[in-house]
Amino acid sequence: MHFHAETTCSRKTGWVTSELYYWHDTLNWCGFMEPSLDLQPGVHFENPETKRRLQNLVEATDLAPKLHAHRPRPAPDEVIRTIHPQSHIDHIARVCASGGGDAGKLTPVGPASLDIARLAVGGVIAAVDKVMDGDWYNAYVLCRPPGHHALPDVAMGFCLFANAALGAKHAIDKHGLSRVATIDWDVHHGNGTEAIFYDDPRVLTISLHQDNLFPLDSGPMEARGAGAGEGYNLNIPLPPGTGTGGYLHAFDELVIPALEAFGPELLIIPSGFDSCAMDPLGMQMLKSSDYAEMTRRLMKVADKHAEGRIIVTHEGGYSPQYVPYCGLAVLEVLAGTSQTFTDPFDDFIGAYGGQELSHDQRMLVEEVRRVAFGS
Ligand code: ZN
Repeated sequence: MHFHAETTCSRKTGWVTSELYYWHDTLNWCGFMEPSLDLQPGVHFENPETKRRLQNLVEATDLAPKLHAHRPRPAPDEVIRTIHPQSHIDHIARVCASGGGDAGKLTPVGPASLDIARLAVGGVIAAVDKVMDGDWYNAYVLCRPPGHHALPDVAMGFCLFANAALGAKHAIDKHGLSRVATIDWDVHHGNGTEAIFYDDPRVLTISLHQDNLFPLDSGPMEARGAGAGEGYNLNIPLPPGTGTGGYLHAFDELVIPALEAFGPELLIIPSGFDSCAMDPLGMQMLKSSDYAEMTRRLMKVADKHAEGRIIVTHEGGYSPQYVPYCGLAVLEVLAGTSQTFTDPFDDFIGAYGGQELSHDQRMLVEEVRRVAFGS
């Protein structure tokens, strides 16, 4: 069945948000570092503002009444334990009970963060249930804390639980799927999602990220999966400065062919907008219309193979000014609406030097294709 982009009837886009997501406290860290005698305390990059401003922008547009809002409930620990051991939950509980601190590697938490992390997982699980049951065509989960760096037993890179991976696991365990794809365009490597499914052929994990940004020494193109999962992990480590041309070329040459060969029954997008041109942590060059275009291309795959099923989980993205426009662009495409609001930054960023496909980017994509597809 094929749906046209402008068809709005009978297609519901779920919109999972909670004010409580913004109450996850990342303490008075400076950027992403713990204050010390060398570092004045400041604002943590992963603070509520980027996501809250996205919610505010949606409310300011004609898109809001078209979305199907859902109030999430905390995921039960038995769902979280399908990936994370009880010892990981207990460890986070202890740090929260102590008043907060680093729950792992660069992952500050406040007193209520465990409960809010359960609520983030609960939002993703609800979206999977609604989309799999046919209540929604697709869904956007605007959750905090993010999840794609979390390992089964280590909180990492602002992530406590592996939200997107838990959604994929739930789709397999509860809804009987055998082919789920994750397409992660956050500027950092989706190392947690990769690790969780590295030897599992039921989940194709794809990550487009800035080469060797975070975690360090993670996300090389040679990491293709192991055992039964060999060939089901695809890393695309793009050089810094990659913009519209490089990303869309990587989509056409690598992401879409890999998805077409896999034939996913559900697509999950761990979506970080730190690959945008205005991000303080990344050095890529995307603009909101690029995220819209990548979403459109994934929707074509989803329409062909997965009855349209796509779930977006919000990951990184640290520009409070620009993340809202990127998120809105993705939501508009998911909801099949024409542009509801003009992005005042889009023309500026589109005119930046280096937006077109460069020689280095083309060579990188060719190398990944050779390593990944043998052609
Ligand atoms: Zn990120």
